[in-house]
Amino acid sequence: MERNTIQKKVILDYLKSVKSHPTVDEIYKAVSKKLPNISKGTVYRLLKNFQQKNLIRELCFDVNHFDAELSCHNHFICKHCKKVFDILDFKLPVLNILNKTIKYSTDRQVESGKVSGYQLTICGLCQKCNKKIKEN
Ligand code: ZN
Ligand code: MN
Repeated sequence: MERNTIQKKVILDYLKSVKSHPTVDEIYKAVSKKLPNISKGTVYRLLKNFQQKNLIRELCFDVNHFDAELSCHNHFICKHCKKVFDILDFKLPVLNILNKTIKYSTDRQVESGKVSGYQLTICGLCQKCNKKIKEN
């Protein structure tokens, strides 16, 4: 196999094997055990390449996280420990709410449109951090 093909496979396999939504730094640290000569720049470039091919998705936040789970789901990021959690669904009728609030858009084009889906990244404190912070 070509070096690039091996690199791609190792990175994608790693991302598919974890549920932690790692950052570039974490991915680089994990794959450099198997790919000792890889640079962080190459890891980043390959991640961008996967993203363009819709093989992974990137969660944009303070620090960006990567996810190889492409099923429709949303995310919760803890502002304290920076862990990312999957949210499978909401009990709230989010689509109905979004369709009502779209009326407040500043753009007519959106205002008179219709919402059919959403991808949310919400932030707050996870259970552990919330407890820790309350105790202090
Ligand atoms: Zn936390
Ligand atoms: Mn996820």
